[in-house]
Amino acid sequence: MVENENLVQGRTGQWEVIIGLEIHAQIAAKAKLFSGSSTDFGSDPNTQVSFLDAGMPGMLPIINKVCVDQAIKTGLGFHGHINEISVFDRKNYFYADLPTGYQISQFHYPIVTGGYIDIELEGKPSKRIAITRLHLEQDAGKSIHDLHPDFSYIDLNRAGMALMEIVSEPEMRSPAQAMAYVKKLRSLVRYLGTCDGNMEQGSMRVDANISLCRPGEPFGTRAEIKNVNSIRFLGQALDYEIYRQLEILEEGGAVVQETRLFDPVKGETRSMRGKENAHDYRYFPDPDLKPLVVTQERIEAIRATMTELPDDKRNRFQIDYGLSDYDANVLVAEKEIADYYETVVKAAKSQDTKQAAKLIANWLIGEVFGAMNRESLSIHQLPFPSSHLAELVDLIMDGTISGKIAKDVFVKMWTTAKSPADLVADLGLQQISDTSVIEAAIDQVLKDNADKVDDYKSGKVQLFGFFIGLIMKALKGKANPGLVNDILKSKL
Ligand code: ADP
Ligand code: MG
Repeated sequence: MVENENLVQGRTGQWEVIIGLEIHAQIAAKAKLFSGSSTDFGSDPNTQVSFLDAGMPGMLPIINKVCVDQAIKTGLGFHGHINEISVFDRKNYFYADLPTGYQISQFHYPIVTGGYIDIELEGKPSKRIAITRLHLEQDAGKSIHDLHPDFSYIDLNRAGMALMEIVSEPEMRSPAQAMAYVKKLRSLVRYLGTCDGNMEQGSMRVDANISLCRPGEPFGTRAEIKNVNSIRFLGQALDYEIYRQLEILEEGGAVVQETRLFDPVKGETRSMRGKENAHDYRYFPDPDLKPLVVTQERIEAIRATMTELPDDKRNRFQIDYGLSDYDANVLVAEKEIADYYETVVKAAKSQDTKQAAKLIANWLIGEVFGAMNRESLSIHQLPFPSSHLAELVDLIMDGTISGKIAKDVFVKMWTTAKSPADLVADLGLQQISDTSVIEAAIDQVLKDNADKVDDYKSGKVQLFGFFIGLIMKALKGKANPGLVNDILKSKL
């Protein structure tokens, strides 16, 4: 990963990295953009193809209202301007998986213009990335070249599916920022329910434009890395590309504007084709489709259906629960996690709500996420009910068990159906807060180590921890640590 956030050091001085992303997000809808064919994932090839999708002559496109609403909702989600009039154009090109010979897209008049997304990078203030536009367009079919040595296959199930192409301004300055942008956008569309965001299934694909220039100088020539389908690959592709361009520029050469592909096996990008220009596509308004008109009423009706979005949720979590920036961002990134968190917070009975909420956040981000990762589980697959996590935190809050013992209880929670309270009772794990018991243990330890006590009194204060260790051991780790500390101090 490139270390310096903004500048890359070369032999001949520093370079600034300029990145702009075009993201294709498949719209979550039952039918395609202009036909009634199903959009289910993973069906048999060519089973979801209407005459229109297959490019049969005389077929007329009919706009799917749901897809338009989804695009509007997404635009509102990133604070864009929804255009009351937008126009569908034909983008003409010939390819085997495009039976019509053109893709219906929006070129001059997209449905959404402007907007922004705030991205978060660990330990840094958030950065605002401007969005240029969102337009609606059809997806193409799929060519399959690796099933037969002599033939290529065509699957048209994807042909005509609705895509939102979301174009950013060239405002990202590092691979980390580009990755954070995709993460945030994916989180947003998932919250909105406008795209499932499953990159590995191709529902979200990233074209990354990247160039280098001297700080303060005009932007350099860019290369475009096409169809990156994971956030990790995006980071790797951009890292590779930075050093490829850096080498060319420092040798005094020129970067060619071209389309490149990332090879995840080699970790390299390679040239795919020279950059085509817009005029090559001979865009013109599709004569089968009237301009798309959306009324303010419709826009407001869609706005009214929107639930709390990640940024608002994060702000509320920070105010209501006193969470740090980092914790709040981690918890709101996925709506399922945020909902789970709030369920646990509401179930906890502790009087000090904020303290309990913070403790629950720590447990969720630490122990629970750790175990989920180890066992490859999602939040819905946890082997204990959310009420048990609330109960565990309550037991810590009311002093029944220490945080350390709670970790042992947590491990048992995974493997038994028992509640934390039952586990604590069954295993006799209650914290010892009876001062007479603690005092007796302390007296014994001090008596057995009289020489060390003398050393302590003559200035070797670091022995305090040594005594604590022995006392805790004598009480099997169950003594209330605060009490042990206080009593030991007074006795010494
Ligand atoms: P095109 O339509 O040819 O793809 P655009 O001007 O629409 O070109 O830009 C496409 C993407 O490339 C946008 O995301 C934009 O931010 C980005 N971009 C434009 N110029 C540069 C540059 N010099 N370096 C990096 N990215 C750039
Ligand atoms: Mg482009």
